[in-house]
Amino acid sequence: MARRRGRVVRFHSNQVTVVDLEDGNRITLKLRGRFKMQGIRPLVGDIIEYTPDGFGSGLVENILHRRNQLTKPSVANVDQVMVVATIKEPETPLGILDRILVLAEKAGIEIVVVFNKVDILETEEEKKKLQEIKSIYARIYPTICTSAKKGTGLKEFKEFLKNKVSVMAGLSGVGKSSLLNAVNPGLKLRTGEVSRTGRGRHTTTYSELLEFDFGGFVADTPGFSSLEIKDISKEELKSYFPEFAEYQKCLFSDCLHLSEPGCAVRYAAEQGLIAPSRYRSYRDILKEIMEGGKERW
Ligand code: GDP
Ligand code: ZN
Repeated sequence: MARRRGRVVRFHSNQVTVVDLEDGNRITLKLRGRFKMQGIRPLVGDIIEYTPDGFGSGLVENILHRRNQLTKPSVANVDQVMVVATIKEPETPLGILDRILVLAEKAGIEIVVVFNKVDILETEEEKKKLQEIKSIYARIYPTICTSAKKGTGLKEFKEFLKNKVSVMAGLSGVGKSSLLNAVNPGLKLRTGEVSRTGRGRHTTTYSELLEFDFGGFVADTPGFSSLEIKDISKEELKSYFPEFAEYQKCLFSDCLHLSEPGCAVRYAAEQGLIAPSRYRSYRDILKEIMEGGKERW
């Protein structure tokens, strides 16, 4: 039979479940032995070629080139990460938000920033805070305000998800699962179970892609939850703050934007052209990289 193409939505004990790219049907396949021999395993999100056996199953023949790949959870070919943040309950510290954004930039994935729980902002001060923070990020990324509870912004949120492969990110409790359930009731989401042994949360290595009934997929476990800055050199960090690029006319071409003379980025932050909180996050992460003894590059 002719080869077909599918997207892997589940891989468990040698059984590969794919959604056919053309007809959208779900089919469970087996891996050819050579994959095991070569130590190659498909990842959720992979596009594979397969031959149907005519009896509702088939064989994986080939795994196509991965555009990108996330770890913990392992997902390939991710189109975008929806980074969810909140002004309160819980308050997402901007340093944490910026960390997630750096990790997503490093992975080379498109970013959408979602400010959820806008329904609980009562005072003028809280609403002003949202607008101020939103304006920092709206200059860099597509940004939306939502309420999973009241329905605000959900149409827009859904438009972003439609026909794409997304990963959710953000602190626990910001409403990641609520948002997904609100746009697609009945989505079989895995929620962060706290283990009874007191050893913290289980980190799932087997992630699945869930299919939206309006088209598109989302990983059933959030990404970037470890927040660990790994394998980022001090020289490359600045490139993960896209808004710095415009101001990078420093005296030294290898300027790290710390206390070097003639640093245009530091000057831009002092003038408020670059958000001071973003510049602070940059310095904090840079300091961590430099102090972590990670000068291996
Ligand atoms: P997750 O850990 O990011 O997946 O967060 P959940 O979706 O489990 O939500 C955590 C809590 O916040 C739950 O009690 C939700 O009902 C609540 N929640 C989620 N979104 C909203 C929202 O937009 N407004 C309000 N008021 N509560 C929300
Ligand atoms: Zn500089």
